[in-house]
Amino acid sequence: MSSEDKIIDLDIAIIGGGSAGMALASRLDGLFATVFEPKTASERDCSWALWAQAPQLLELSLSVRGSWDKWRLIDHSGEVIHHSHQYRYTCLSSKQYLQWCETHLKQSVNLLRAPVENLVTKGSGASGGQFDAGGQSYRAKVIYDSRPPKVPKNSLCQHFIGWEIILKKPIDNADIATLMDFRVDQSRGLHFIYVLPYTDRHLLVESTMISNQLEDKDWYRNAITCWLKERDIEVEAQLHEEYGVIPMTKVQPQNADVVNIGAVGGAIRLSSGYAFSTIQTQMKALANSITAGKAELPKAFSGALMFMDKVFNRALKAEPDKGVSFFMATAKALNADQFSRFMLGQARPIEWVRVILAMPKKPFLKAALKQWLNHD
Ligand SMILES: Cc1cc2nc3c(=O)[nH]c(=O)nc-3n(C[C@H](O)[C@H](O)[C@H](O)COP(=O)(O)OP(=O)(O)OC[C@H]3O[C@@H](n4cnc5c(N)ncnc54)[C@H](O)[C@@H]3O)c2cc1C
Repeated sequence: MSSEDKIIDLDIAIIGGGSAGMALASRLDGLFATVFEPKTASERDCSWALWAQAPQLLELSLSVRGSWDKWRLIDHSGEVIHHSHQYRYTCLSSKQYLQWCETHLKQSVNLLRAPVENLVTKGSGASGGQFDAGGQSYRAKVIYDSRPPKVPKNSLCQHFIGWEIILKKPIDNADIATLMDFRVDQSRGLHFIYVLPYTDRHLLVESTMISNQLEDKDWYRNAITCWLKERDIEVEAQLHEEYGVIPMTKVQPQNADVVNIGAVGGAIRLSSGYAFSTIQTQMKALANSITAGKAELPKAFSGALMFMDKVFNRALKAEPDKGVSFFMATAKALNADQFSRFMLGQARPIEWVRVILAMPKKPFLKAALKQWLNHD
């Protein structure tokens, strides 16, 4: 650390200018705050998708890569197509979203392109601390930390590689997003292909696994290549490749003595890996709480939802070969709007009942009992 007289004092330090850090920073006003983020938005570009209704779609419009009112899940026995009148499955460019947030930072909020190092906290929770960044020492009254979490080995994760590609010829059904096409190799874990047609010749195609074991990158690439080949889809150009690992279990923060936000703060939906929408809601509420003179982080999910998701993951882990039927049954049990609410963690009690009734009883009762006895 530098000497005491060179320390810069902040009301708020936000460590990590990703989805959560920038969503929070762009809503702060009147406080002396700095976001510390080593990477530019271009350096960490990927796709973030969510189910959005009209007002949110308008708010995010400058970052939208594609948006669909129809989506489908497919397995060997058929497909479920949803057509929604209230929600659109919407894919954002993370680069454009983060740049948009950057342009909306108020005058008292800065963004510094440097990693935070040597963090020393005063106590636990919102009691602040001191750290270095870019050769300068800082002291903050409150620290919000979104640095990616430590993920215990062999944890259940969603892991994928996605290609943004231009095709030689247009495809059919470019108005439908394919959320899960399970007609692929299931020998290594629950595996599906995810396809977002931005246009009929411009697609994002991802090979996604839900399992405890990451694969070699060529494994996902090969899965994409095979899926395209089986459908006679020829690639003219590959524009971008994205790789991701999203934990689907409880994660360890880098520092438990600060306020952890975003993925590390528990905003990832354990049964699906989706987090963007929850982060938006949570950061909006946190910014309001800060404006009101508090620093409390609202809960990302209710206890009941967390319990249900953990039961789902337990059942999936115990019987991975039934995973395809769990997802297909969920999609069949709900219509498009109900499914959107379910995926957003906003399902109504009757929608939960429909999903529970659609699930095979034995594995889920077993998983529920184990989860109830375990209390983790
Ligand atoms: C490739 C990918 C695609 C995803 N797609 C979706 C999706 O479609 N829909 C969805 O809902 N969720 C998706 N997720 C899950 C989740 O929404 C994202 O992971 C989201 O970025 C989490 O936001 P965050 O702010 O917690 O973390 P991040 O956005 O990862 O931000 C953390 C930031 O901390 C920075 N950092 C690291 N070390 C330091 C340091 N020492 N000092 C300062 N900063 C540091 C990193 O550079 C990073 O920018 C995806 C995740 C990945 C990885």
